[in-house]
Amino acid sequence: MAETFVIVGASLAGAKAAQTLREEGGDAPIVLLGDEPDRPYERPPLSKGYLLGNDERESVFVHRPGWYRENDVDLRLSVTATAIDRQARRVRLADGSSVGYDKLLLSTGSSPRQLRVPGADLGGVLYLRRLSDSEALKAALSRGGQVVIAGAGWIGLETASAARHYGCDVTVVEPAPCPLYAALGPELGAVFEDLHRAHGVAFRFGEGVSELRGGDGAVRQVLTSSGAQLAADIVIVGIGAVPNTALADEAGLDVDNGIVVDQSLRTSDPAIFAAGDVASAFNTVLNRRIRVEHWGNALASGPVAARGMLGLPATYDWVPYFFSDQYDLGMETAGVPEPGGYDDVVYRGDKESLEFIAFWLRGDAVVAGMNVNIWDVNDDIQALIRAGTPVDRGRLADPAVPLPEVAVGG
Ligand SMILES: Cc1cc2nc3c(=O)[nH]c(=O)nc-3n(C[C@H](O)[C@H](O)[C@H](O)COP(=O)(O)OP(=O)(O)OC[C@H]3O[C@@H](n4cnc5c(N)ncnc54)[C@H](O)[C@@H]3O)c2cc1C
Repeated sequence: MAETFVIVGASLAGAKAAQTLREEGGDAPIVLLGDEPDRPYERPPLSKGYLLGNDERESVFVHRPGWYRENDVDLRLSVTATAIDRQARRVRLADGSSVGYDKLLLSTGSSPRQLRVPGADLGGVLYLRRLSDSEALKAALSRGGQVVIAGAGWIGLETASAARHYGCDVTVVEPAPCPLYAALGPELGAVFEDLHRAHGVAFRFGEGVSELRGGDGAVRQVLTSSGAQLAADIVIVGIGAVPNTALADEAGLDVDNGIVVDQSLRTSDPAIFAAGDVASAFNTVLNRRIRVEHWGNALASGPVAARGMLGLPATYDWVPYFFSDQYDLGMETAGVPEPGGYDDVVYRGDKESLEFIAFWLRGDAVVAGMNVNIWDVNDDIQALIRAGTPVDRGRLADPAVPLPEVAVGG
C-alpha cells in the first residue's frame, strides 16, 4: 500500500515538496496543511512588487488555483497543526481531529521577531510576513506620513524603499553600525546606506527602539535608546525572524536554532523531515549546518526533503542564494558573507554607478559574491564558491576576464 505523506506548512517549501512528491512518488496520498487562508504563495513580492502596487495578487501564488485538485494534493487551509504523536504517527489539528502519516514534512517557516517595548501593541505598529500584512502596510503607506522602521535588515530596507515610493518620510533605527551588518558586513552595508540616504532615508545607527507612545490607541512617537524622540504615524518592525519550531520541540525532535536535519533533510526521527526557513540543515557545500531564511532555500529544500521522504537519493548541496530589489538596485547574493567569515572584499565594475560584482574572499578563495545590476553571472559566482580554490585577485577584479577563468594560473 502507498505511504501517506503529510506536510505541515503550506508555503513555498511545502508546496514545492508536494509537487516533487507527486511528480516522483506516483499516486501516494499527499496532505498539505496550512494555517493561512490563502493557498501557498511566495513572500518576496510582499515587500516589493505587490507592496508597490506593480504586481497583481494572483501573481504571488506558487501554483494555479486548480493545481492541487488536478494533482490530487489534499490542500487544507486555515488548519493549524497543534501536536505530533510520533508513536501513533499522527498530526493533531486545532479542531480536535488528526491526520495519520507514514512520512511527515515540517515546513512551518518562521515568524517575525516581536518588538517587546512599552507601546508595542499600539495601532500603526506593523509587521510584514503574510499577504494580509502586505495589504495593510500598503494601505497605511498610501496615506503618507512619518514612518519609523525598527531594523535595517532586508525587511527594513525594502519597506523603506516602498515607503519612499509612497512619499513618506522615513527614519530607520538600527543598533548595528550600518544596514545589513550581520548579513553582508560593513563594506556592502555602506553601499546600501548610501543608496537609501540618496533616496532621502534617515538612519540612526547604534540605537534601538526603546518605547512607543501614542494617542487614541495609535502610535505617535518613537523613543530610541539614545533618548531621541521621533514623530511616527507608522512603525514598521523588521527585527528578524524566529523559526516556528514549537511542534518539533514538543515532539522531542532535535532543535537548535531551527529543526536539526541531516543532508537529506531528515530530522532525529527518520519518519520526519524539515525544509525551508525552519530547518537547520547540514549543507554539503559549506560542510556545516546552517539555517537560512531565503526564498531560494525554500524552493530548493522542499524538493530535496520530498526525495528523502520517497527514499530517493537526496542531498542538500545548495549554495545559499538571496536576491533583493530596492529602488533601482537589483542584486543577487550567493554564499554567506557574514562578518568573521571573510578577510576582504574585491570589486569588479563600477561601485559608484551601482553596476558591479563584490566578492568576499577568505584567503584567496571566494566565499560569497553579490552581483548588483549585472545579470546572468550568479551561476559563475556559485561555481567559484563551490570550487573553493585560490583566485587571482587582479583577474577577479577585471571585467574583461570571464569569471570561469579567474583561478590562479587560469
Ligand atoms: C516580506 C518578505 C520578503 C522576502 N523577500 C525575500 C527576497 O527578496 N529574497 C529571498 O531570498 N527571500 C525573501 N524572503 C524570505 C522568503 O520568503 C522565505 O525564506 C520563505 O518564505 C520561506 O518559505 P517556507 O516555506 O520555509 O516558510 P514560510 O513562507 O514561513 O511558510 C510556512 C507556512 O507554515 C505555516 N505554519 C506554521 N506553523 C503551522 C502549523 N502549526 N500548522 C499549519 N501551518 C503552519 C505558516 O503560517 C506559513 O504559512 C522574504 C520574506 C518576507 C516575509
